[in-house]
Amino acid sequence: MYETERNELIDLLKKKGIQNKSLLAAITKIERHQFVPEIMIPNAYKDVALPIGYDQTISQPYTVAFMTQSLNPKPNQKILEIGTGSGYQAAILYEMGAKVFTIERNNNLYNSALKIFDKLGYNIAARCSDGSIGWEEFSPFDGIIVTAGSPSVPKNLLKQLAINGKLVIPVGDRSTQILKIITKASEEEFTTDEVPYFAFVPLIGREGWKEK
Ligand code: SAM
Repeated sequence: MYETERNELIDLLKKKGIQNKSLLAAITKIERHQFVPEIMIPNAYKDVALPIGYDQTISQPYTVAFMTQSLNPKPNQKILEIGTGSGYQAAILYEMGAKVFTIERNNNLYNSALKIFDKLGYNIAARCSDGSIGWEEFSPFDGIIVTAGSPSVPKNLLKQLAINGKLVIPVGDRSTQILKIITKASEEEFTTDEVPYFAFVPLIGREGWKEK
């Protein structure tokens, strides 16, 4: 279903600079309309963020694609996502062949994501907790992607990155952030690329924002 709409979205993403073949294949395959509330289905293939309930959003497809292209996950790499939300970003990583670990703090969203992973037969490790402190038990990760805006870079996430691993995280104030793409050169050394501007819902947690 909605193949034409998906192909149009792919054309748009290509025009905007998304080139990663395995990423484009995943977006072509995954039915985004399955990850949004029924009332949002007509908008599922527009390049916009959509509400998914509980004041949260499924990110804009271009944002998902840009962050994923920046992370550049390879098959069998261990990737941790913070902020499962609808489960769409985790699905993209899974279809790209990564071993996916994902954390969501909202229990309702966590439960709906589990249902969709189960329905699609995805073997994704999911947990309901504060992802700002990572998931130490399964570290180190080859990549960590944070899909909520943080006031600073959580130390625990840097610690849980493998050497040469990448952390992709929006950092800024509660409404606007710069995307930081951080590569871990050694236990002490990191290189950072920055891309302005993005607008994410806040990362709430011990190493994020306080709940209002
Ligand atoms: N990646 C999601 C998707 O594909 O639909 C979009 C995520 S939405 C923009 C951000 C999510 O981060 C929300 O579902 C929110 O509840 C969650 N979140 C915020 N702070 C968190 C934290 N400390 N740990 C885990 N999840 C968190």
